Parts: sequence; C-alpha cells; structure tokens
Amino acid sequence: MDLIAVETVLRPRSRSELPAWQAGDACLAGGTWLFSEPQPGTRRLVDLAGLGWPPSALGPEGLMLAATCTIAQLDRLDLPPSWVAAPLVRQCCRALLGSFKIWNTATVGGNLCLALPAGPMIALATALEASCAIWSADGAERSLSATDFVLDPGRNALRPGEILRSLSIPAAALTRRTAFRRISLSPNGRSGALLIGTRDAWGGFALTVTASVRRPLRLIFDALPDRAALMQVLDEAIPETLYHDDVHGRPDWRRHVTRHLAEEIREALSGEAGRCS
Ligand SMILES: Cc1cc2nc3c(=O)[nH]c(=O)nc-3n(C[C@H](O)[C@H](O)[C@H](O)COP(=O)(O)OP(=O)(O)OC[C@H]3O[C@@H](n4cnc5c(N)ncnc54)[C@H](O)[C@@H]3O)c2cc1C
Repeated sequence: MDLIAVETVLRPRSRSELPAWQAGDACLAGGTWLFSEPQPGTRRLVDLAGLGWPPSALGPEGLMLAATCTIAQLDRLDLPPSWVAAPLVRQCCRALLGSFKIWNTATVGGNLCLALPAGPMIALATALEASCAIWSADGAERSLSATDFVLDPGRNALRPGEILRSLSIPAAALTRRTAFRRISLSPNGRSGALLIGTRDAWGGFALTVTASVRRPLRLIFDALPDRAALMQVLDEAIPETLYHDDVHGRPDWRRHVTRHLAEEIREALSGEAGRCS
C-alpha cells in the first residue's frame, strides 16, 4: 500500500546517522504490517535495513538475534544439538502463517514491536527468557524482558525515539525441554492461543501463555504442578478481562483452550526423559 502521508524515507548506515526523533516518525523493518494498512500520522520512515546488523550470533552465552533478523533467517538457523529447545524456534516461526514473501521480509523485532497477542516471536522470546536490547534516543541503551516489553495489543514499552536493537536468549534457556501447543479457529487462521512449556534439568517448570491473552505471561513453578494446582494458578494469573477478544476468538473460547492446552503441556513434560514437541 502507498503511504501517502510519508514525505521522507531515511536509510541510516550507523547509529550516529539515526535522525533526532520527531513526531510522525516510524521505524521501517520488514514493512509487512507498516505497508498493509493506512498510516495517516506517519510522515517519515527510518529504514533499519541500512544499519546492516548481522541477523544472528551464537556463542557460549546463548543466541543473539538482531531485531532485523527475518522469520526465514531464524527458521534456517543451525543450532547446536545440546540446545534441545531448538525445535521451538521453528515451531514459533511456523506459527506466523504467511507466504514465503512475508517470511523473507517480516522481522523478529517487527513482530515484537507490533505487540499483537498472536505474535509468535513474542511467545518464543517470553518462553526462552529473552532480553530485549533497546537503543534510546540519547545514545544510551537499556534492556527489558520480553514480558515487560509487550504491554497490551499494539502497545510496547518503547519510548519516543527508541529502537529495538536485538534479543538475547540465554544458553540455559535453550537447554530446557519444551512443549508447544497452538490453536486457531480455522486451519490457516491466526493463533487464538499459543502456549509453551519449558522444563529444566532440576524439574522446574514454566508455562508461557500468549495469543489468548492481551499480553504475554510466563508462570513459574519450582516443580511440575498437578492439574488442579496448574488450573488454580492459571485462574489467578488470568482474570476474565485479560483474555483477548477479537475476530480470532472470543474470550470464553480462549479461556477454555488455554486451560486445555496448558494441561496437555503439563502432561507432555511430566516424563523425565525424551523430547517433547
Ligand atoms: C499474511 C500475514 C500474516 C501475518 N501473521 C501474523 C501473525 O500470525 N502474528 C503476528 O503477530 N503478526 C502477523 N502478521 C503481521 C506482521 O507481518 C508481523 O507481525 C511481522 O513480524 C512484522 O514485522 P515487520 O518487520 O514486517 O514489521 P514492520 O511492518 O516493518 O513494523 C511493524 C511495527 O513495528 C515497528 N518496528 C519494527 N521494527 C522496529 C524496531 N526494531 N524498533 C522499533 N520499532 C520497530 C514499526 O515502526 C511498526 O510500527 C502477519 C502479516 C501478514 C501480511
């Protein structure tokens, strides 16, 4: 779509070339959302592609993803076998049901910044305890957890002029067993609920709830709870008003499937050995 209010497109090559922020500015990442609907208030685009960030870096401390890493680049990553959580990366990529054109253009950072409940990169980042590195307008840097980054549908924690630079996933999170469950109202529909369980070597369990709720939640347990305890924690953590309501699912349905998928994940991760999916 032509964005008829846009007057200027800037393509900075380095941080020092980033313009001073002004009202009407928007970062351009893949543009899969930005160019998909009118943006009447947007006068200037700051194209992040020119910054040339390497899409990913692997090291002993974990996995770093540039905000501009595309879904296709993430899906193609070859991760070490000791990172048993690796299949989760692909499962989350495949939860964004777009054509190859969308996959090759949409970015990890754009998915987080858009802050849609059904953002699969939000689910991945939350489940694997990613930390978001943010470039502030004054040249400083700050970091936030993914759960603190996404505030509500379409609302993130960035302040005016701030840019999401990267996500860092700690190696410890990548060595956890995982279980992934997703449901939508139609076979190729947007996620109505997307839940991820993780279990560490000491038996600790965490349940990430996304898509069915307005913002991501990560519920932490010292050990695997029984069904009743899990349901109680879910009910306490998610009041009725936190369930999302849009064309992709009504809150009562989302609550029902969230509880159902949570129990499936609990069962899948109850064994001591073996990989879950
Ligand atoms: C067919 C199709 C299916 C889709 N399915 C899904 C889905 O299942 N779930 C979902 O969540 N979305 C979905 N989307 C919406 C969207 O395409 C994705 O969320 C995508 O990941 C957005 O990334 P992008 O790089 O294209 O972002 P853009 O469109 O470039 O930007 C999105 C927003 O984030 C801001 N932004 C982007 N990067 C940064 C940054 N680094 N720092 C600060 N601000 C930034 C932009 O200014 C803009 O406001 C879908 C879109 C299409 C067309």
